[in-house]
Amino acid sequence: MNSSILFYTIITILSIQFLLETILDYLNSKRYQDPVPSELNDVFEASEYEKSQRYKKTNYKFGMITSTFSFLLSIGFLIFGGFEWIDSMARGISENPIIIALVFFGIIMIGSDLLSTPLSYYHTFVIEEKFGFNKSTRKLFFLDKLKGWLMTIILGGGILALVIWFFQWAGTSFWIYTWGVIALFSIFMNMFYSKLIVPLFNKQTPLEDGTLKEKLETYAKNVGFELKNIFVIDGSKRSTKANAYFSGFGKQKRVTLYDTLINDLDEDEIVAVLAHEVGHYKRKHIIFNLFASLMLTGITLFILSIFINNPQVSLAIGVSQPSFHAALIGFGILYSPISEITGLIMNYLSRKFEYEADNYAKDTFAAMPLVSSLKKLSKNSLSNLTPHPAYVFMHYSHPPLISRIRNLKE
Ligand SMILES: [Zn+2]
Repeated sequence: MNSSILFYTIITILSIQFLLETILDYLNSKRYQDPVPSELNDVFEASEYEKSQRYKKTNYKFGMITSTFSFLLSIGFLIFGGFEWIDSMARGISENPIIIALVFFGIIMIGSDLLSTPLSYYHTFVIEEKFGFNKSTRKLFFLDKLKGWLMTIILGGGILALVIWFFQWAGTSFWIYTWGVIALFSIFMNMFYSKLIVPLFNKQTPLEDGTLKEKLETYAKNVGFELKNIFVIDGSKRSTKANAYFSGFGKQKRVTLYDTLINDLDEDEIVAVLAHEVGHYKRKHIIFNLFASLMLTGITLFILSIFINNPQVSLAIGVSQPSFHAALIGFGILYSPISEITGLIMNYLSRKFEYEADNYAKDTFAAMPLVSSLKKLSKNSLSNLTPHPAYVFMHYSHPPLISRIRNLKE
């Protein structure tokens, strides 16, 4: 296969993906006005629901503009030889393939960030602000950006350099070593994310003694779940949206509750949320997800190793000299239809797991507090009560609110 056929394949893949997303968004937006199912009548008051519909419409329009912009930009970039331009710039700086690759990806990252920052700024300080979600300040926004950049440079740059070094040293077997490093890194991150990364962005404090803590501990004890670490995170400094999550294994495992969750939900509702999270743990979803993502990474890396030495994959993105970094981008796009499919499967499983965790909470605690907490959380995030089934199938990692409530009330 020659590189110009691959070049047009890349353009076609990007175009089909854009078209499919646009159609899905459109179908979904047509459902905003649908009547609300009777079980969800008490989620919003009429005026709030009207606000939530305006929020969805605003986000829909904003999403249309940004996705069209980024699609046209990617296509233009490919057609007008953007990658070749950056590649020759990087090659002007050094002859070392690792440094060339770091500079190459560095320029792409900085460039796309410069273009996307005004959009995310607008989203946070105009849209989210207008609907009362935003609690972030301009200082915090840019500080977050800066920290994100530093993390990408250190972690992303470090891993990329290591992978290319493996490639130089072991040839196509680089995939096994890369896989090993990524596996260790994901397990490490899973265990220490809360201790190492979260503190860079948020403050976490142990949940203070009181009736809430007692109730959570009593529940955990009843189901034989060792719960030593309950933390409260200051999510409210950025957004009014609430959340709770679970991280780590063994002694490192901890439950993190957003302060917004504690403010909005009553104690039984918070216990129900914990019960749901414990359900994920007990039903082995966390281990399964980690294992599945490791397997998928392994398979992807193995397929990458078959194509990495094929110069056509590099040349397909419009560069004149084949290289590991160019092949990485070419492969990334050519492989994306397959990763879309695995993404669909993972989403499907994730929705199934949500029902299982809900059922676990229902069996070991109670259904009604979970129902009311889900309603409050949906209300707080102005979430969509009437999504299009095709959109749910493609994008939702959680079942729509109405399906979860019907399942809980069964
Ligand atoms: Zn869940």
